[in-house]
Amino acid sequence: MTSFALPEAREHAAARSQRRALRPTPRWWRDASAVFAWAATLFVVALWVAGGGLTAFGSVGEALSDVGRLSGLLASVLMLLQVLLMARIPLVEQAWGQDELARVHRLVGFTSFNLMVAHIVLTTVGYSAGTDLGVVGTFVDEVLHSPGMVLALAGTIALVMVVVTSVKRARARLRYESWHLLHLYAYLGAGLALPHQLWTGEDFTSSPVATVFWWGLYAVALVSVLAFRVVLPVVRSRRHRLVVSEVVAESPTVTSVVMTGRHLDRLPVRAGQFFQWRFLDGPGWSRANPFSLSAAPDGRSLRITAERVGASTERLATLRPGTQVLVEGPYGRLHTGVRTSSKTVLVGAGIGITPLRAILEDLPASPDGVVVLYRVGRQSDIVLGDELFDLARAKGGRVVAVVGHRRRDRASWLPVDAGRLGDAEALLRIVPDIAERDVYVCGNPTWMDAVIAAAHEAGVPREAVHHERFSY
Ligand SMILES: Cc1cc2nc3c(=O)[nH]c(=O)nc-3n(C[C@H](O)[C@H](O)[C@H](O)COP(=O)(O)OP(=O)(O)OC[C@H]3O[C@@H](n4cnc5c(N)ncnc54)[C@H](O)[C@@H]3O)c2cc1C
Repeated sequence: MTSFALPEAREHAAARSQRRALRPTPRWWRDASAVFAWAATLFVVALWVAGGGLTAFGSVGEALSDVGRLSGLLASVLMLLQVLLMARIPLVEQAWGQDELARVHRLVGFTSFNLMVAHIVLTTVGYSAGTDLGVVGTFVDEVLHSPGMVLALAGTIALVMVVVTSVKRARARLRYESWHLLHLYAYLGAGLALPHQLWTGEDFTSSPVATVFWWGLYAVALVSVLAFRVVLPVVRSRRHRLVVSEVVAESPTVTSVVMTGRHLDRLPVRAGQFFQWRFLDGPGWSRANPFSLSAAPDGRSLRITAERVGASTERLATLRPGTQVLVEGPYGRLHTGVRTSSKTVLVGAGIGITPLRAILEDLPASPDGVVVLYRVGRQSDIVLGDELFDLARAKGGRVVAVVGHRRRDRASWLPVDAGRLGDAEALLRIVPDIAERDVYVCGNPTWMDAVIAAAHEAGVPREAVHHERFSY
C-alpha cells in the first residue's frame, strides 16, 4: 500500500460553482414510494376479497381458480409497479438510486413472472376440474375461445423472453444492445395482458372502485414512461443544446469530454450523477451510454471521463468540438445530497474514481478532512490524479492510493501485497473514524461488494454507505 503525492492540479479543477445549491434528497421519499407500492399490492388483495375471493372456495377446482385469479392480479400489479420503477420518475430515482432500483427491479420482476406462471397453471387446472377436456385441452380451449387470450399468450411469450435473457448467465452472453432491446418486450407483455383482464377478468370490472384503480394504475404507468423517458429528455436536450467544447486525452485509454450549453445553471444536476449520452457524430448516434460527471457542474459546462472498453467509449476520443449532444438524466444517488454526516470517505477503483472526483469538488472544506481511497492496479492507471490531490488539499483532506494487483485467493478490496491484512482492518487503519463518516463507493461490482462489506464490518451504518455500479 502506498501513498502518493501528485503534481499541481490543472487550472480548471479549481473552477468554482456558480449554481444555486440543490437541497438534500428527503429521506421520506423512499418511504413514501415503498408505502405506495405496498398499498397498491394490498389494495389488489382487498379487491379480490371484496369480489368474493375467499368465499368462493366451493370445490377444489373453484379454490384453485380463485387463488389463480389472485396470483394473476398480483402479477399484474407488480408488473405495473415494475414499469413505474424503471420509468425514471425523478422522485423514485432520487429516493432509491441506480443500484437499489436495479436490485428491486430484479426481485419484483421475477416475483411477478412467477405469479403469472402460477396464475396460468392454477386457473387452467381449476377450470379443467369442471370440464372433461383435461388440463391441456382446457388450456387450448381457453386460449382459443376466451376473449383476449391469444393476445395474453403473446404477451406471456414476450415476458418469457425477457425473463430468460435476464437470468445472469444468459445476460452475460448478450451484447448490451441486444439485451436492452429484448427487455423492451416487457412493455409489450404488460400491454398485451390488458385486454384479457378487461374482457374476462371480472376483478377488473367488478366494481367502480376496481375499474378506477386498474385504469388509473395503467394510466399512471403509461404517462410516467412517456413523460420521464421521452418528453423530459427531449425537452432538456432542446433547452440546454449541449455541444462538445473540448476533448482531452487523460491517458492512452481514458478520455474526458467537456460540453457547454444554454441555461446549464438551471439544470437540476449534482456532482457525481450520471446521464445517458448520445453524441450526434454520425451513424450509431442513437445508442445511449451512461457516463457520470467527473467534475462538479459549474453552471457553464459538464464533463465526463471515460475509459475505452468498446466502440462507444473509443469514439469519444474522436469527437469534434461543436458535436451536438442529447441527454437523458440526471440520474443516480451518488451525490452529496444524501450525506448523513459532515465527514466523508470516497473509495474508488479504476475509472470508478470519476464520480468521486466530482463529489470531492462539491464537498465543503472541513476540519475533519475528506479521505480519498483510490485503488488501482498500477501507478500508471491513476487518472485525474493531479486534480484529486489538489482538490483534497483544498478541502483539508488527503488522497491515499492503494496500488497493486488484485488478490485471487479471496474477495478483497486490497491488493495482493497487503498480505494478511483484513479488509475492515485496512479501512480502520487508514481512516480510524470511518464509522462516523459517509462512505461513497464506485468501481467494479465485485470489488465494490468487498468494500461495502468491509465498511459495514468497520461499523459504518447501512444508510451511510452510498454506491453506484458501472454495470447494468
Ligand atoms: C451508472 C453508470 C455510470 C457510468 N459512468 C461511467 C464513467 O463515468 N466512466 C466510464 O468510463 N464508464 C462509465 N460507465 C460504464 C460505461 O457506460 C460503459 O463502459 C460503456 O457504456 C461501454 O460502452 P462501449 O460501447 O464502449 O463498450 P461495449 O463493448 O458496448 O460494452 C462494454 C461493457 O460495458 C457495459 N455497457 C455497455 N453499454 C452499457 C450501457 N448502455 N449501460 C450500462 N453498461 C453498459 C457492458 O457491461 C459491456 O459488457 C458507467 C456505467 C453506468 C451504468
